[in-house]
Amino acid sequence: MSMNYVAIKAASAPELDHADQILSNDAASRRAFREAMLQAVDLVAGGAAGHGPYSGASVQRLRSILDELDPCPETGTGIAAALADIGRPALDHALAVGDPAAMAHLHCPVAVPALAAEVLISATNQSLDSWDQSPFATMAEERVLAWLTQLVGLPATASGNFTSGGSQSNMTALHLAAARCGDDARAAGVIFTSEQSHFSIRKSAAILGFAENAVITVATDTDGRMSVPALEASLRRAITRGRLPVAVVATAGTTDLGAIDPLPEIADVAAAYNMWMHVDAAYGGGLLVSRHRGRLAGLERAHSIALDFHKMLFQPISCGALLVSDRLDFLPLATKADYLNPEEAVFADAPNLVERSFQTTRRSDALKVLMTLRAIGRNGLDALISKTLENTLAAADAIEERKYLRLARQPTLSTVLFRYVSPGGPERSDTIAIGVRAALFHAGIAALATTVLDGRVHFKLTLLNPRSTSDVVHHVLDAIGETARELETHHARP
Ligand SMILES: *Cc1c(COP(=O)(O)O)cnc(C)c1O
Repeated sequence: MSMNYVAIKAASAPELDHADQILSNDAASRRAFREAMLQAVDLVAGGAAGHGPYSGASVQRLRSILDELDPCPETGTGIAAALADIGRPALDHALAVGDPAAMAHLHCPVAVPALAAEVLISATNQSLDSWDQSPFATMAEERVLAWLTQLVGLPATASGNFTSGGSQSNMTALHLAAARCGDDARAAGVIFTSEQSHFSIRKSAAILGFAENAVITVATDTDGRMSVPALEASLRRAITRGRLPVAVVATAGTTDLGAIDPLPEIADVAAAYNMWMHVDAAYGGGLLVSRHRGRLAGLERAHSIALDFHKMLFQPISCGALLVSDRLDFLPLATKADYLNPEEAVFADAPNLVERSFQTTRRSDALKVLMTLRAIGRNGLDALISKTLENTLAAADAIEERKYLRLARQPTLSTVLFRYVSPGGPERSDTIAIGVRAALFHAGIAALATTVLDGRVHFKLTLLNPRSTSDVVHHVLDAIGETARELETHHARP
């Protein structure tokens, strides 16, 4: 027996006091787990102290709550006190994503079955990098991916993997597209995407080592859809200048307008120029499980697709997937690690999903999607998603009824953009809109977003909650009007 072993044994021998705090097969630890989970669930089920989307607490107030706590006391407080000290304020001062007036971002309320799955995901703590670290979870992810590729209508060679979200899916797709073009891709390669596409495209290109001007922005029509003639013109210009077309990134559901690019026409162009077609369907992909899925026609012709289940599909963060039309496209990610995928397959037929991912250790997010799909079913999901789209159309009508507001565009998905119209002119309209947003947030009345469209500040509602019905929207729009009038008089004073 080595000295080390004796020394460790002596040091840990006197007591194993806290062993029940580590979940194991041991009965005491399972009791401690049950007790802690029940307390946490009761806290959440009891609801937050206030109501509305936010308590209104200032940044300083939140800082002082936390500054008063010793993050790591000499002696632990136990779970009940820890929940009172940290759980309580974390709930009370959270942005209440389930509140119908929480309409600011692509940030959804969560499905109950997914939350039940989260208990299993966290407690079993499977890691999706190798099959022997997640035997069932790996196969469950494969099952969900197979269902997804079929749902989209991708060829039988298709594959995919779960990601932390759209940004990672987009970056992975561009990496695969570049690998297909070989050594020239980074230096001479160009990526075409619309001016309304997500900023992660540009960011990914920079991270992946593309040249600074590699992302070519293609103009959109008034509804925010990529213009195909403009795409073709940009392509011809780039080729004339000796650049190498690597990929075209279409968006199915732009973050602001919800615009869906003309996928079949873009697929034709991609095919004609032998270019990779990636579709960023992080937002619009939710339509796949609704009666509106026909609006995504052409998606099946993509080389790769980004889907986010934490946008339209009610999943707790994080939950996204990247699909590819040919599983061999993942080869550039199949770097070898002796400890994960040794030369000799130890576990025959066992997939090691690390070979399709930037991530190594990775949580089993597919399980919560599977649990949600099973528990709620296609009809249930269709009803929920279709209702959010209906609510958005109703919101557009409610905006058009009000003289102090101007609808920017008819909505496509579940966002609606509109402008506050100040008697003081456009500059004043911008300033007041920003002031109204902050005031309504701090008053706990509504969480709204503002964005810039046509060079002017617009309000933006993102209605991912089926309970954000027209009465809620009417209330919020009235509150915008009242607050704007208050700010107008305030501004008017010398
Ligand atoms: C949200 C969004 C992303 C980014 O996805 P994350 O999951 O936040 O990383 C990318 N593209 C579009 C169109 C999005 O709406």
